[in-house]
Amino acid sequence: MKRFSKTICAVLVLSLAFTLAGCNGIVIGEPTPPTSATTTESTTQTTTTSTTTASTEKPSAAATKKPTTTTTTAVQGYPYAYAGFDPIETDMSVPFNLILLNCDHRLPDGYVPKLKTAVDGYAATLDYRVVPFYRQMYDAALLDGITLVPVSGYRSFARQKRNFENYIDTYKKQGMSKVDATIKASQIVLLPGTSEHNAGLAMDICSLEVSFENTKEFRWLDAHAHEYGFIMRYPKDKTHITKITYEPWHYRYVGVEVATELKKSGMVLEEYLGV
Ligand SMILES: [Zn+2]
Repeated sequence: MKRFSKTICAVLVLSLAFTLAGCNGIVIGEPTPPTSATTTESTTQTTTTSTTTASTEKPSAAATKKPTTTTTTAVQGYPYAYAGFDPIETDMSVPFNLILLNCDHRLPDGYVPKLKTAVDGYAATLDYRVVPFYRQMYDAALLDGITLVPVSGYRSFARQKRNFENYIDTYKKQGMSKVDATIKASQIVLLPGTSEHNAGLAMDICSLEVSFENTKEFRWLDAHAHEYGFIMRYPKDKTHITKITYEPWHYRYVGVEVATELKKSGMVLEEYLGV
């Protein structure tokens, strides 16, 4: 996520200027609700100052540039269309393992999967159809001395919405317009209904830190997750397609066959589906 902080600023300006119909920036799918404006600002500051990727963008200039389009009033069903976000309803008639969710594709209103606890003793749940595969993977890892702690599975649309709107409120209190605050929130939290967690199809495993990639748990997942139908959904080198920053902890169930093909080819789900 750090390497994209400046890109986010640039994209923010572009999105305001041109009112993009699709994704308005790289987003981060693993939110922590802001406890106060100070905390959020502090997080942002840390991200900005620790950026190491060379870039010609100037975030300070981007941050102070005034939006040129703030009068979007079209109501298109999606509650955040006023800020240029209007993901289409994803095709739910496909096999469940291929349901596409990203910033352009959302779940139908009111969709709630049938849930089951992923692993006994942990609170995280998944779509009941995914659970047997997660358990198999969990048990296989245990035999290798690896514990694939299910940190975060299903999240309700309501929770995602609450979280998203908490961020909007925080940014508005800092003086941003509703549109600006919504765009900024979208860079921290996936738009409600567009997260694979809302469908119970993904699990955050062990950690929510990029340093997870240096652990034996990550190495095990990298070698074996596809054998159980899971893929690391947001690889480092495909953020231009996924529009999500690198998340070495986020594993999506796509089925063994598809996961194996994606693993071998290096494709992400969008490429596999040809969207
Ligand atoms: Zn996740």
